[in-house]
Amino acid sequence: MLINPYKDSESSAISLMDIISGVKERGLDMPVLLRFENLLDSQISFLNNSFNEAIKKLNYKGEYRGVYPIKVNQQQQVIEEVTKFGQRYHHGLEVGSKAELVAALSLMKDKEACLICNGYKDEEFVDLGLYAVKMGYKCFFVIEIPGELDIVLERSQALGIQPNIGIRIKLSAKAGGHWTESGGDRSIFGLNVSQAITMVDTLKEKKMLDSLKLLHYHLGSQIPNIRDIRSAVLEATRVYAELVNEGAPMGYLDLGGGLAVDYDGSNTNYTNSRNYNVEEYCTDIVEAVMSILDPSGIQHPVIVTESGRAVVAYYSVLLFNVLDVEKFQEYDIPDKLDDNTSEQIKNLYDAKKNINLKNIQECYNDVLYYRDEIREMFKHGRISLRERSLSEKIFWNTISQIAKEKLKLKNPPPDLEDIESAIADIYYCNFSVFQSIPDSWAIDQLFPIMPVHRLLELPKRNAVIADITCDCDGKIDRFIDLHDVRNTLPLHEMKNGDDYYLGVFLVGAYQETLGDLHNLFGDTNVVSVRIYPDGNFDFVNEIHGDSVADVLSYVEFDPKDMLVSFREKAEEAIRDGLISASDRREIMKAYDNGLRGYTYYER
Ligand SMILES: *Cc1c(COP(=O)(O)O)cnc(C)c1O
Repeated sequence: MLINPYKDSESSAISLMDIISGVKERGLDMPVLLRFENLLDSQISFLNNSFNEAIKKLNYKGEYRGVYPIKVNQQQQVIEEVTKFGQRYHHGLEVGSKAELVAALSLMKDKEACLICNGYKDEEFVDLGLYAVKMGYKCFFVIEIPGELDIVLERSQALGIQPNIGIRIKLSAKAGGHWTESGGDRSIFGLNVSQAITMVDTLKEKKMLDSLKLLHYHLGSQIPNIRDIRSAVLEATRVYAELVNEGAPMGYLDLGGGLAVDYDGSNTNYTNSRNYNVEEYCTDIVEAVMSILDPSGIQHPVIVTESGRAVVAYYSVLLFNVLDVEKFQEYDIPDKLDDNTSEQIKNLYDAKKNINLKNIQECYNDVLYYRDEIREMFKHGRISLRERSLSEKIFWNTISQIAKEKLKLKNPPPDLEDIESAIADIYYCNFSVFQSIPDSWAIDQLFPIMPVHRLLELPKRNAVIADITCDCDGKIDRFIDLHDVRNTLPLHEMKNGDDYYLGVFLVGAYQETLGDLHNLFGDTNVVSVRIYPDGNFDFVNEIHGDSVADVLSYVEFDPKDMLVSFREKAEEAIRDGLISASDRREIMKAYDNGLRGYTYYER
């Protein structure tokens, strides 16, 4: 498994296993989140170059100015790198809250880049944005709800700074995908057409219409179908044209986010994919804008997009090790049953003996029926534990055989859809779904997951993945398949105590900060890697994950107090003659080590 940020050069590809050795040598434990600087850099370039090429090809007269929405990955390092790598394209930032604005202002350097302020804005927020304007930054206030305009106008008058005002509209166009509800008439943010006209009238009345410079909409994230993107651009550009006709200077058309990532690689309009590529996305947008504006001779605006997911998803890879495996047990069953075996077990056994390709559904129904009946009988004391054990062995042996037969069928019965996961191995892995890939749990998002080594060996086990939280939702049993979704992942057999590493890819967008402290598993170790064109790499930054004391302090424990109160308990145990004074020393050391330790499984 290689990472290669330089598309044209093969010598720069580096192996994830080399990175893992480097991580181990530095004494960092799994799980580790890798961030590849170069991948962020190349995604920003790719997006900007694609827009610039479409602009050139279609002879568009405006420019493209991307902004990165901070909420997608707010880590200081990420925003710093976005502003650094984005500078040559004047790639700016989008903020949705006061905290994000404060963060953006500390890192923005480029006065040509846009700083777009979405979200509810109070006086403090507005004042800060106005000062940014005064300092020469291209800072826009996007009005999301009608009431916001008053604050912006009032504060700009008070401070004597002319604002750049944008207007967020609700489109009637709706997009498919998980975030359908962000767009459409009933979306929670944005002004409807009548409210927009009222706003224009207010601005005219107050002689402030020359502040209205930007039109914005956001259809939702991960839009899988290019047709939805296109129809939204067309509708929004119509509104843009009308605002120009109303006399607003305008100049900026901000199409929000939505550029999808092809998580499952299917290149379809399925939720986890997209039926277009970045070049098509850019061309379609530029073309659609021109098709509306050119007939009425309206000047081409600066096109702004707020792509977050597509810019940062590729940036991060989560690595973890497998701690243990619970293998699906293949039981041997006798060739023949004793004559005195109870009738139901004999029935179960016969069902098993009669399996063939034609009757697997029937056989499946039968063995389920007999198994349940035998369990009932056990409850009522009519068969022994030993007999029940025999029946369970026959049952699982049959299920495993049905699963094998099923593979031979082109159109297996729908009832047998999940049968593989019933007989899958469970691979217990050193990570938390809730902390590191929350969208896998929350919205059934698929991520590419695979072993990062032993890739020339056929993986012979079928597995589901369990994390180390003790939550029954802390598992992954939906994986990418050629068609649709599969319930198990082919993995290699664990070799006598050797480490086995899996990687989860495309986790750079949304996962890090949406992740939470379920079962008090904290932030993982993070290593930033820089790859050079000759195939060498550096660890440019290492951030140690949360210690146990860190996560406890997030939930208001005070590690110092905890040490004191535990020491009192140890003292009491000495008084009661349970431990010696030197035991106390060892015990306190263990407690202290516990507080300092990584929250994950340490070797
Ligand atoms: C979340 C959000 C984005 C980012 O969308 P992606 O699909 O991740 O590119 C952009 N703009 C606004 C207003 C958002 O709320």
